[in-house]
Amino acid sequence: MKSETKNCQNCKKDFTIETEDFNFYEKMKVPAPTFCPYCRMLRRMLFGNTSKFYKRPCEKCKKVVICLYAEDNPSKMYCNDCWWKDDWDGTEYGVDYDPSKPFFEQFIELRKRTPFVALESLYPSLVNTKYTNNSSYQRDCFMTIYADYDEHCAYTQMSYMNKDCMDCYRLRKSELCYECVGIANCFNCKWSEELDTCVNSFFCQSCYGCIDCIGCVNLINKRHCILNKEYGKAEYYEKIKELNLDTYEGQQQMKKMSEEFWLKAPKREYHGNSLNKNVTGEYVYLSKNTKDSFLVVGAEDCRFTQLLSIKDAKDCYDYTGWGDRSSLLYECYIVGQGAYNNKFCSECWPEARDLEYCYYCIQGKDCFGCVNLKRKQYCILNKEYSKEEYFKLKEKIIKDMKEKPWTNKVGHIYAYGEFLPPEFSPYGYAETMASDYNPLQKTETEKGGYNFYEIKKKDYSPTLDNKMLPNTFLEIQGSIEKEIIQCSTCDRAYNIHYIEMELLRKMNQSLPHSCPTCRHERRFNRTNKPVLYSRKCMKCNTDIKTPYSLERPEIVYCEKCYQALVY
Ligand SMILES: [Zn+2]
Ligand SMILES: [Zn+2]
Ligand SMILES: [Zn+2]
Ligand SMILES: [Zn+2]
Repeated sequence: MKSETKNCQNCKKDFTIETEDFNFYEKMKVPAPTFCPYCRMLRRMLFGNTSKFYKRPCEKCKKVVICLYAEDNPSKMYCNDCWWKDDWDGTEYGVDYDPSKPFFEQFIELRKRTPFVALESLYPSLVNTKYTNNSSYQRDCFMTIYADYDEHCAYTQMSYMNKDCMDCYRLRKSELCYECVGIANCFNCKWSEELDTCVNSFFCQSCYGCIDCIGCVNLINKRHCILNKEYGKAEYYEKIKELNLDTYEGQQQMKKMSEEFWLKAPKREYHGNSLNKNVTGEYVYLSKNTKDSFLVVGAEDCRFTQLLSIKDAKDCYDYTGWGDRSSLLYECYIVGQGAYNNKFCSECWPEARDLEYCYYCIQGKDCFGCVNLKRKQYCILNKEYSKEEYFKLKEKIIKDMKEKPWTNKVGHIYAYGEFLPPEFSPYGYAETMASDYNPLQKTETEKGGYNFYEIKKKDYSPTLDNKMLPNTFLEIQGSIEKEIIQCSTCDRAYNIHYIEMELLRKMNQSLPHSCPTCRHERRFNRTNKPVLYSRKCMKCNTDIKTPYSLERPEIVYCEKCYQALVY
């Protein structure tokens, strides 16, 4: 088929479907999308509450636990222990399909009756890690989110296979790192961004293979540099003594100085590594033939994918969250670990196969329209069928969905081929990842048909002002873990968890002066967003697609000019 221009049902802007896209839709046996790629991404993100936590009793054992569902959220909820127990599997909630009613209506009804798990993780794989979300294989971790295979980390997000790291965002295979954004294979790096294979480097940006560097940008295989100036070894250590980097003030000064210095250096058109082949997007690594993707590792023949933090993903479109040996996925959010041929699913893992319209289907195969179901095959609306009955009924429902589509509360047509509607999400818009990338006011939230929920302010009674915090770690006296510290930037208060204390001590790092939310927001805001702009290389004038809009202050070079500059 030739490329075609369509008008998005949601934002009413035109978008183009290319010939190769049609080939993919044909392979997956799905109709072409009716929402534009950006609106499709946001719709998937409505199903991710990564960091709005509440306390509420488990509906089964009545124990009060930390969870993703506010006290006044009508969703049913079990604590992690009760949810993962084998004394129920979800078929208890099974219902017959009623052909006189739209499928989506019945699917939403079923969602309301089944219990959700307090926190989203592969719970049986967690060791001594109670507070974590969207994660698996965490050991001795605290508040790691979107995290897999980490050990002894705290307050990290988008994290894979790290050890002893704290307050980092987008980190891979690194150790002893603090306040970094976008690091891979690093050891003892702090306050740095977009580093690969660096050691003992602080306040550096976009460096590769550097050791003992401070405040540098765009350097490759350098040693003993400060603000890109090379020093002799002895001189380097003399110089850094003057910077007082073990003190809070010294760090803040260096942070400001280096961020100003980085801004003067040209940026590459997108962040990625030279192992990519034929890719467009931002933060794309080890990928090939992948377009319009954001924050992905090891993607191949993919388009419109985001947040794939573990390789690989092959032949996937409109896929947000995870990776890890996944293939043939379309319109999925948090589906991974050996996932194969799933459509319109969210939170289905591990080894989910041939699922459609499923939400929280653990190790499911051949299921359609199931919610909170564990280790089942041939189920529809949580009811079990024989193999023959299953395929026959599934075909009938798809036919009904095509012939008599459901219309949601803002008039969007939901036929077979649309992802889960906003009404299906158990979260309020402000609680979701969609809001992180695209915050909306109350009226816009309602106009878009999203669930409105106002996050209530918590009452804190701080016992310590951040201004009273000691300047270095060594000056800490008494048990600071008991204090409730007033945040320096917002009206929240926070305390220091014992794992944090251990990490700060190990890294000789002064205590943070702002709350974990403000700390994460700073790092999130230092990260480009998943939107690409067409503009020209500021050196050779060639056309580029880049996450840096024209209004941005950065100097942006095409890949070729950037490589010529740094090598
Ligand atoms: Zn749109
Ligand atoms: Zn319970
Ligand atoms: Zn704060
Ligand atoms: Zn150029």
